[in-house]
Amino acid sequence: MKTAEPRVYLVAQMVAQTDGIVDFLDDHGIDKWYSSAWSNSDNDLLPEIAGRLCYMSYTNPRPGGNAAYLDHIKEVGHGSVLEHSVFSFIITGVSRSLTHELIRHRAGMSFSQLSQRFVDESEASFVVPPAFADCLDTEAGMIWQSACDWSANRYRLLVAHMEAKAEIAALPPTARRKAAREAARSVLPNATETKIYVTANARAWRHFLEMRGDGAADAEIRRLALLLLPVLKGAAPNLFGDYEVKRDDLGRECITTKYRKV
Ligand SMILES: Cc1cc2nc3c(=O)[nH]c(=O)nc-3n(C[C@H](O)[C@H](O)[C@H](O)COP(=O)(O)OP(=O)(O)OC[C@H]3O[C@@H](n4cnc5c(N)ncnc54)[C@H](O)[C@@H]3O)c2cc1C
Repeated sequence: MKTAEPRVYLVAQMVAQTDGIVDFLDDHGIDKWYSSAWSNSDNDLLPEIAGRLCYMSYTNPRPGGNAAYLDHIKEVGHGSVLEHSVFSFIITGVSRSLTHELIRHRAGMSFSQLSQRFVDESEASFVVPPAFADCLDTEAGMIWQSACDWSANRYRLLVAHMEAKAEIAALPPTARRKAAREAARSVLPNATETKIYVTANARAWRHFLEMRGDGAADAEIRRLALLLLPVLKGAAPNLFGDYEVKRDDLGRECITTKYRKV
């Protein structure tokens, strides 16, 4: 049995169009504005430009620069400003049960996921739930592995049976394979590995980190939140800089912030 480990790939983030910004500032007689994010992170910069537009406050710099500006936005809960920065990740090595929870996040998030109808799952990998990770060689771990193996084997048998079924065998090749796989996939376990492309704005990522980085969240999706956090912090240190990783009373690593649900 093949197992898969989670990986996150940041595949898209913001690029400020300096010419357009400078033209806008020039047209409005603003020649002195400087954000500390200019040379550091376009992801941090653009929400500040958007927020300052609301009050045309470019000539009122805040001590502490962009970090202080975005902290104030979070403190007063003007979270819509944070929607102007968007990040896309490809996430692999996660289970179908994880993505079932991930796609429940509706506001500001977009998803494209591996199709189990079009893609053959005969050689699928399985994601070991964190609780089993250190005990795969115990009886519980063996039960888990044999359940995955058994399901994968049944899947392969069912695909063959369904493809041979008269009304399915009569279909063109792509439709035939799709019809067989869509029926056979019903026996694949939640642990089956999947891949998903997720695009979300900073406000939506923040909500995800808070909900799924919490001790109450499922262990696998909490592990994903903990993987995403340093990447997001690296890309936008001020949008995500308020998050800390702490151990809760049960010793679990959790994501905390004083600015929840901006
Ligand atoms: C620990 C945990 C346990 C869970 N257990 C279950 C469970 O047993 N069963 C289950 O079904 N789900 C469960 N969930 C999923 C949960 O109910 C949410 O569906 C999921 O966390 C997405 O949260 P959300 O709706 O706040 O996010 P989003 O859909 O991203 O929405 C973000 C915010 O936008 C606003 N919003 C979005 N849509 C609407 C709307 N239609 N109307 C008004 N406001 C809106 C809300 O303020 C919302 O918080 C669980 C989640 C967690 C973290």
